[in-house]
Amino acid sequence: MPKLKIFLWQICHALVHTRGTLAQRGTPIDCHCPFCHIMIEDTTHLFLGCAISQDCWRLAVFHNWLNMNPQFDPQIGILQMLSDAKAAGLAIKMDRLVVLLWGI
Ligand SMILES: [Zn+2]
Repeated sequence: MPKLKIFLWQICHALVHTRGTLAQRGTPIDCHCPFCHIMIEDTTHLFLGCAISQDCWRLAVFHNWLNMNPQFDPQIGILQMLSDAKAAGLAIKMDRLVVLLWGI
């Protein structure tokens, strides 16, 4: 579980090393998403905006891994999505949500 806590901390502090952030910091790398090859890979696209990640979310809900329907609007960003999920309270399984983010 420490890995997941560190990963969540990295998301919250915009420290996930996506292709977009690596390219922005000078790493000679293609900054585009390796799945759709259209958008720049940032955390919002990687975890919410990409069609592949959206399929992961849909499958997680379909198979009852998550008991929520995440917002897919890339405008809200990953932090707002996590905040909304936590604010919704009830029985949202935050640990499962983080595991899914890790899996993506
Ligand atoms: Zn993509």
